[in-house]
Amino acid sequence: MPYDINETHDPKLESWVESANDPETDFPIQNLPWCVYFIEESLDFEPIGGLGVRLGESVVAIEPLIEAHLLDGVRAGDVSLLDFGTLPEFQALGSTLHRTLRARLVELLTADNTELRGNRGLRNAALLPIDQLLTLPLAPFPNYTDFYASLHHATNVGSMFRPDNPILPNYKHIPIGYHGRASSIVPSGTPIRRPVGQQAPAEEGGTPGFGPCKLLDYELELGVIVGRGNELGVPISMEDVEDHIFGMCILNDWSARDMQKWEYQPLGPFLAKSFASTVSSYIVTMEALAPFRTPAFERAASDPQPLPYLDSKYNRTHGGVDITVEAYLTSADMRKRSMAPVQLSKGSFKDMYWTIGQMLAHHASNGCNMQPGDLLGSGTISGPKRENRGCLLELTWDGDPMATPPIAAPGTQRTPIKLPTGEERKFLADGDEIILKAYCERDGFRRIGFGECRGIIEPARR
Ligand code: CA
Repeated sequence: MPYDINETHDPKLESWVESANDPETDFPIQNLPWCVYFIEESLDFEPIGGLGVRLGESVVAIEPLIEAHLLDGVRAGDVSLLDFGTLPEFQALGSTLHRTLRARLVELLTADNTELRGNRGLRNAALLPIDQLLTLPLAPFPNYTDFYASLHHATNVGSMFRPDNPILPNYKHIPIGYHGRASSIVPSGTPIRRPVGQQAPAEEGGTPGFGPCKLLDYELELGVIVGRGNELGVPISMEDVEDHIFGMCILNDWSARDMQKWEYQPLGPFLAKSFASTVSSYIVTMEALAPFRTPAFERAASDPQPLPYLDSKYNRTHGGVDITVEAYLTSADMRKRSMAPVQLSKGSFKDMYWTIGQMLAHHASNGCNMQPGDLLGSGTISGPKRENRGCLLELTWDGDPMATPPIAAPGTQRTPIKLPTGEERKFLADGDEIILKAYCERDGFRRIGFGECRGIIEPARR
């Protein structure tokens, strides 16, 4: 099995870094997600930073550990951890080396280990308090592709846009996706400027409008970060595919629905999506996610089975990942009045129709070369129930595609979400903040989390 459960997942493990033992933390010793950090007070001068893993309320910097020869034993065959110079080279080292590195980091940070803890100078250089840092995802992402892997989301949206024909005939045969825009991916906390663009004419045959988006939405997604790439012309098989995945992060695929509706046919989303996408600061590794793997989505008996190039025994039994995802909203007024964010939705990544392995294998099946650090979005994560709907387009829609005949199919009926200030939302207003969270829980294992993915809407540029 590509990612097995081992001693690094032991729920009894504790760290000498006390804050990592807090039962509420997203970042216990069993997690160790990767980030790039910068020491905040250095940013005005010559920025000091590097690669690190989050642990409790600290980041553990990797470079001081390498310089102190504490990671010399981290090898896989001929490859040593010391062979990586750039971030993509590090991500491409492959799961065997990453597994060895994880085991060594867990060893160094475990409660009774004194190799790092006992060396005060080194400890101060390597263990950095989070409140003095800016943490960023492992970026830039060379490429970005967004999928559409939730059948629940596709059915809801399809029912609104094409009531007679919500699920197109290809959907259950190929993981649908489109090439996104890597240059406009921003880290959590970056303000999101409301986009301006062309929108559908008010009546058929009329003139389209051009102006600030009126139907701005978020999409609750997870991102997959490619580890090892593949050569141009050489596909990735389902047997190998998990070894090409470095880890996962939270992704908000901001969407301009009025622009999307006007432009999406015939070639799919374009400017409705490319103005910004937000990612969380931390990449949770596939090793850390091993205890939370689940069987792939159970297809209805009447559904087609995946073609052989999208099928493997491992994928059937472990292709899914049980990650709980949540979306929250605060308005500017709510923040002014110190009100807690309102939860918009809660769902699970295990409800996705296509697995992360299938998305990556399909992407490379034509010989397209995937590169270390490439970002694959999952598509909006929606589940069978109303509270599982991962965007406002679905949440404020009165429809139910499961009802016969479907209720409110054309998407004309919308029930706004009521906020504690008395404000109402069908789509996002200027000043609104969207906060996405993700975490994994399973009996017998330590809870691990992804941190947060945040963005506040700013008014359109005049
Ligand atoms: Ca999307």
